[in-house]
Amino acid sequence: MNQSGIVLVLGIRPDVIRASIIIRELRSRLGKSFKLIWSGQHYSDNLKDVFFRELGLSAPEIELGISGANDAELVSSMISELSKVLVEENPAAVVFLGDTNTVTGSIAAAQLNIPIIHIEGCMRSYDWRMPEEKYRTIADHLSDLIYAYIDEYKAQGVAEGIPTENIMVSGNPIVDVLQEYFLSGKLRMTPQNFNELLRDKYRVIDEEFLLMTCHRRENVENNDALQNIFNLAGGSTRKVLFPAGYRTQKMLKEFNISLPDNLVMVDPVGYLELLELMCASKGILTDSGTVVEEAAVLGIPTIQMRTATERPQVYECGASIKFDPFAPCENKALLEKLEKLRGSMWHHPFGDGKASYRIVEDIITRFENSNYRGHQPSKYAPFSTKSFMSEK
Ligand code: UDP
Repeated sequence: MNQSGIVLVLGIRPDVIRASIIIRELRSRLGKSFKLIWSGQHYSDNLKDVFFRELGLSAPEIELGISGANDAELVSSMISELSKVLVEENPAAVVFLGDTNTVTGSIAAAQLNIPIIHIEGCMRSYDWRMPEEKYRTIADHLSDLIYAYIDEYKAQGVAEGIPTENIMVSGNPIVDVLQEYFLSGKLRMTPQNFNELLRDKYRVIDEEFLLMTCHRRENVENNDALQNIFNLAGGSTRKVLFPAGYRTQKMLKEFNISLPDNLVMVDPVGYLELLELMCASKGILTDSGTVVEEAAVLGIPTIQMRTATERPQVYECGASIKFDPFAPCENKALLEKLEKLRGSMWHHPFGDGKASYRIVEDIITRFENSNYRGHQPSKYAPFSTKSFMSEK
């Protein structure tokens, strides 16, 4: 049996971005006692490897290579493949992040009575039709320890009966990543390289543009909603640059939706390119959970194209405007509102740029105190947690 260590299980593009500092710090501080397990939900170069390269991370120690033609197959592959690895590795604790098929691996850890930690816990959209809402709720209620980004998320978990002492408020690691890589200048293009990219790839020369990302299943798998999203983009007088997920591209073909003349669609791009595009844009149309947070931190206004969101804070702080793809409104007025927001100031609530370090410090302290193996295999282990964010 191997030595008991900590394993972190991730599987999609935003996971590696958001957890990049956590991975780096856990690797450097725990050495061989830490392993990154990649589920394989995302596996292509431009949805996975490019982010490891750009963020200076070596490849995952373990690749599960899960597969399946639908969610049921993917989830069963996730549970059975992870279970084999957990039996082999016998970790002191398993860490999950977020709300995708990958976090259903928490069922494998629960079956083996291995302590479970959930980063990005207790977010809720209160739209039970979303697969993410079911997955994050399952992961939270199986977890022994939850890192919630803000006090509001913790309150949501407590309202569902999760003991307050099992939820630590950590801040949101995306703020740390943006500060450490992009705002510091470490991960930046030169203005000349960026202008060449705009000219050669997007046919943009000295003109202002909007950026769009759109991948959420509830939007792209519904003909009307997807058409309404492209009507919104087409209503702008500006060029709209659109790095499109593969599912979105497939559904556009299936529904026979034609692209508006002002829209330039490309395959998904790397993080550096996306951040440069984001910052140079007049505003962003997006249904991405991470992009609305990043834009709020970077001071770029967004139209969030979602019926329900687990991140209403971006509306509340004045960084984002709602567009419901299932109940379209006056597009022109909405686009004008977006443009007016550019340059206005808001205070984002996502944290101080130290969340990754808090999470790592806490995981390591518990690991060194062998607080995991003393774990009671009951629904809620008596961990002691406190809110760092409310300490200020
Ligand atoms: N992103 C990227 N290239 C792209 C589109 C998005 O690097 O072509 C980044 C984006 O900056 C954010 C993350 O990927 O950090 C968001 O991923 P996605 O929207 O797929 O997931 P969600 O956040 O909605 O779960």
